Amino acid sequence: TQKLHIIGGGMAGSEAAWQAAQAGCPVVIHEMRPSVETFAHRTGNLAEMVCSNSFRSDDSEQNAVGLLHWEMRAAGGIIMATADRHRLPAGGALAVDRDPFSAAVTETLMNHPLIEVEYGEITELPNEGHWIIATGPLTSEGLGRAIQAETGTEALAFFDAIAPIVYADSINMDVAWMQSRYDKGETEEEQRAYLNCPMDKDDYEGFMDALLEADKAAFHEGETAGYFDGCLPIEVMAERGRETLRHGPMKPVGLTNSHKPQDKPYAVVQLRRDNALGTLYNIVGFQTKMKYGSQADVFRMIPGLEEARFARLGGIHRNTFINSPTLLDGQMRLRSRPNIRFAGQITGVEGYVESAAMGLLAGRMAAAEIAGRELLPPPPETALGALVTHITGGADAKTFQPMNVNFGLFPPVDGLKSGRRGRKDRYKAYTDRAKELWQGWLDAQEPVAAD
Ligand code: FAD
Repeated sequence: TQKLHIIGGGMAGSEAAWQAAQAGCPVVIHEMRPSVETFAHRTGNLAEMVCSNSFRSDDSEQNAVGLLHWEMRAAGGIIMATADRHRLPAGGALAVDRDPFSAAVTETLMNHPLIEVEYGEITELPNEGHWIIATGPLTSEGLGRAIQAETGTEALAFFDAIAPIVYADSINMDVAWMQSRYDKGETEEEQRAYLNCPMDKDDYEGFMDALLEADKAAFHEGETAGYFDGCLPIEVMAERGRETLRHGPMKPVGLTNSHKPQDKPYAVVQLRRDNALGTLYNIVGFQTKMKYGSQADVFRMIPGLEEARFARLGGIHRNTFINSPTLLDGQMRLRSRPNIRFAGQITGVEGYVESAAMGLLAGRMAAAEIAGRELLPPPPETALGALVTHITGGADAKTFQPMNVNFGLFPPVDGLKSGRRGRKDRYKAYTDRAKELWQGWLDAQEPVAAD
């Protein structure tokens, strides 16, 4: 049998290796640590958790990441099984004893008869054989350059610049209105592509004070360098002068408030559709290093967003990721070199669990291909299916930024109340539907032995 080669033995690479090997496919993991280090990793272990020790909510009925846990457990995932064995008390969250966890993943993979680990950095894109690139947010410089040479500079980013993302049904449309600046666009849909939130002078001044006073996160040592051009954090723009935002992303020109056409807003916050389903909107130009605890309070000061729920908060981090919607096919293969798949955070998902989930899929898809079969992606109503559908097609390629799993990525369940009140029933309906479809998708495959 042909071997599957995986570059990077992190969250995604470890899960991909396990899934492929359990399906009977021999695997070689190429891992550069410990001889080549990153600024965030501390050990030579596979699947090292570089920062927090949390896999976030473990509630598979009411939480999208909890649902992802459930689906990965059902698929016999090594990351979940090992996390469960090294669980620490943390209420409803799944917290993990990080060093024993990564040591156990390393040992289990090394002891698998079909898995070899080769230590050393890979710096070229392979021409032949079956490969998965799972080198993560801190992909080494040499390999980053090789990927960029293949994809073009526009399609590989070294920093993310994440604007907060709001659930559409939590925006107050009695205050906000739909309009593109100067009604630009060929079609009526394009002319109404933005959601606008108006501010008067008092709103604006209060918002500036809150932005300037909010707690900001610092960069990790070694994380910065040359990111600032083109994606300044909103609070850094505010620090440059109180009028800067009013002449930048919050300029009020070319817009008429349809609720109060005679009132000229002093400033306008614009939101742009973030997914094809229209369930998510991002706040345009609002990438930020404000701490998560401050962000929701500050952004809920925006008229129309008082009750906003956030699918994800903003951030700016060192993060190598590709423009998956343009570069990858539905099988997570690089369109220009289909012998190479991508998995993990480098595909534009964010977080330990999401990264491992994309490894799970890529590993299964690659093993099926090597065995002469094609594994169809899971249904978009499942958590893994929603994520992979988002990165390989659902997301807007022009504004693509890394994404956590959240219910806004799922096709809505018909006939349920929207808004805050129906939320519990709605989430339960999403997760019930997902579990059934996920189990069906698993059952239709060749069995993968559980750990
Ligand atoms: P990694 O787990 O980073 O694995 C990639 C592997 O590839 C690494 O082992 C690396 O050594 C190896 N590699 C890189 N280049 C090469 C090469 N050329 N040849 C061979 N091997 C190579 N996520 C969270 O959920 N919670 C957090 O608190 C959190 N904090 C973070 C803090 C920082 C500073 C960073 C950078 C990221 C953080 N993340 C966090 C994101 C986290 O890194 C990812 O969610 C997760 O580790 C990504 O999994 P991955 O497998 O894609 O990448």
